[in-house]
Amino acid sequence: MSQVLNIFGELTFNKAVMREKLSNNAYEKLIATIQSGSPLDQSIAEDVAHAMKEWAISKGATHFTHWFQPQRGGTAEKHDAFLTYSDNGEMLERFSAKQLIQSEPDASSFPSGGMRSTFEARGYTAWDPTSPAFLMDTGKTRTLVIPSVFLSWTGDVLDMKTPFLRSMRSLNDAGISLQRLLGNRLAKKIIVNCGPEQEYFVVSKKLYETRQDLKTCGRTLFGAPPAKGQQMEDHYFGAIQEKMIAFMEDLDRELYRRGIPAKTRHNEVSPNQFELAPLFEEANLAIDHNLQTMNVMKHVGNRHGLVVLLHEKPFAGVNGSGKHVNWSIGDNTGANYLEPSASPLKNINFLLTLGAVMLGVDKFGGLLRACVADAGNDHRLGANEAPPAIMSIYLGEYLTKLVNEIENMGKPTEQAMANINMGVRNLPRISRDYSDRNRTSPIAFTGNKFEFRAVGSSQNPSEAVTLLNQLATYGYYTIERRLAAHKGKDIRESALLVLKDVFKETRRIRFEGNGYGSEWHREAEKLGLPNARNTPAALPAFEEKEAIELMEKTHVLSGREVKARVEIKFENYIKTKEIEFKTAINVARTQILPTLTKQLTLSANAVSSVKAAGLPAKDILEEVKRFDKLFSLVRDKTESLAKALEKAEARKSAHAKAEYLGNECEKALLDLREAVDSAEEFVAEELWPMAKYQDLLTVL
Ligand code: ADP
Ligand code: MG
Repeated sequence: MSQVLNIFGELTFNKAVMREKLSNNAYEKLIATIQSGSPLDQSIAEDVAHAMKEWAISKGATHFTHWFQPQRGGTAEKHDAFLTYSDNGEMLERFSAKQLIQSEPDASSFPSGGMRSTFEARGYTAWDPTSPAFLMDTGKTRTLVIPSVFLSWTGDVLDMKTPFLRSMRSLNDAGISLQRLLGNRLAKKIIVNCGPEQEYFVVSKKLYETRQDLKTCGRTLFGAPPAKGQQMEDHYFGAIQEKMIAFMEDLDRELYRRGIPAKTRHNEVSPNQFELAPLFEEANLAIDHNLQTMNVMKHVGNRHGLVVLLHEKPFAGVNGSGKHVNWSIGDNTGANYLEPSASPLKNINFLLTLGAVMLGVDKFGGLLRACVADAGNDHRLGANEAPPAIMSIYLGEYLTKLVNEIENMGKPTEQAMANINMGVRNLPRISRDYSDRNRTSPIAFTGNKFEFRAVGSSQNPSEAVTLLNQLATYGYYTIERRLAAHKGKDIRESALLVLKDVFKETRRIRFEGNGYGSEWHREAEKLGLPNARNTPAALPAFEEKEAIELMEKTHVLSGREVKARVEIKFENYIKTKEIEFKTAINVARTQILPTLTKQLTLSANAVSSVKAAGLPAKDILEEVKRFDKLFSLVRDKTESLAKALEKAEARKSAHAKAEYLGNECEKALLDLREAVDSAEEFVAEELWPMAKYQDLLTVL
């Protein structure tokens, strides 16, 4: 067997293991559960738990953990040993159905956005059978990891997976309903596929250790631009290549062992920036796998003396990192509704799906922006970097022409319908070649999928996928309602009449030009497209009446859960900002100012020496004056930031505080940074207390 296939999924409780370890009956039932996405059948839970434990122990596991996705981001786990007492007091290793289905992490340490106070502090986690359990290396032993949802005892959402699974359910209802209307009897279940392209930076661990900002905030708060700009010297490049190849090979191998289909690895635009893209998978799995990938990357990096930076903007002056989330929708027959085909009816379905997404993006652009808003991603969205904060869709020249044709179509004659069908049919060849041209668009149609590029590199892609699902659900239902108004007509004809309106109504979100350009920003404002420039400005979109309605109608979040979610997002934002400001103040006070003092002493001593030698020491005195000025500048800016930060405390609401931190304090930080960076340019190399950009971005 090939090297890859030989190890692929060896750390997962996969179908082959299930078949081997379970009775026929239990196996069949478990597979049916996985396929339908329903909760685990109680009658087989005990067998499944036992099989899982036997398999895990045979592979060296001693503990198990429910692994879940807290709302604040990342993943969380709580480890328990299999070890327990039997009824007569003997030691044994057990894992029961109850432990598989429900575990009780103490919810009080996870943000629940105020719901904790009114409800029981405890929550429970339960296995999501559609995501396979896997083994995690934890030092000398292994742990059985059970991908789980996390809920409070009252059923309130405490995680990111539950809302996603709920969004799949309502999208399924909306999608299947429309398929029936189109005469599709074969579709039984809507499938969303997802391929998240993960960008990241890598730095040498040794250099990283010298940077308090990187260690505490995941990004540099200071750093003068490297003398060489974005260009790297060739010999550095070669060295990085060798080290990176070794790292990437190791990373791919570890991902394969976990059943994660890593496909492409390559350099990105910035120095020391790279990308990893997997083969697409069913969205639930793709999301879990992306979260695992981010963890595995860090571990493997560590083994290679490297630190993987997932932050959206680790370095000023070079491009940041995103996560392009590729999203497509289809069904259990393998059909992709965004794939043009030879069948006229399927092409109608293609256009309706396109229209559904456009309706959603048009109506909920602000919400889409809000769902990817956080302190890290603010450095990309709305900050002159790809993509802009205005949510528009790029269709490419060809598809735009087709959409315009439909929009301007008269009565749909047979001839017109045949032309449109041919237009869609010919699309793939053309669209794929052109689709990559516009890199400034936050949402691009790329041949047979949408690519949502506004997601941050460190973010859980779940929230974005959940919302895309909801937008499609909204669009499908809207379209279905409108089709009903044309009852009795040929379905292709009524579909085109509906599409004509849909494309006309949503024209404002179609944008093919340069997303950075100031003309687009002015134009977007005229069109009424939201353009929140930072998180505090973006988050209120969650609490707009229509947004809450969408959440409730798609059964993804209740109004109360939305409130809680927003509260957590503000909390996160405030915490992140405060940590950054405090770190900056601390570094300035305890590293930069003392360094300037040293430099001042050295230079001042030099003046004395030169004078003692009988020379006027005019120029060197200028140097002393320069450092004296720099010292005052850095000190003043540090104290201004400290004062601004103190004032933030007085803000009454979380929103007001976040706004103040994101605007006033952020400005004070940028001023301080400017001062420190100018000091960096003059202080003696050997005195500077931390690794410089030049090295961070070229040496591994
Ligand atoms: P690029 O965007 O660099 O041109 P591709 O288009 O080949 O590369 O794929 C980018 C990502 O999109 C990959 O992770 C891939 O698995 C995913 N992808 C490809 N087709 C689909 C699809 N139909 N649905 C969802 N994701 C897809
Ligand atoms: Mg791409």
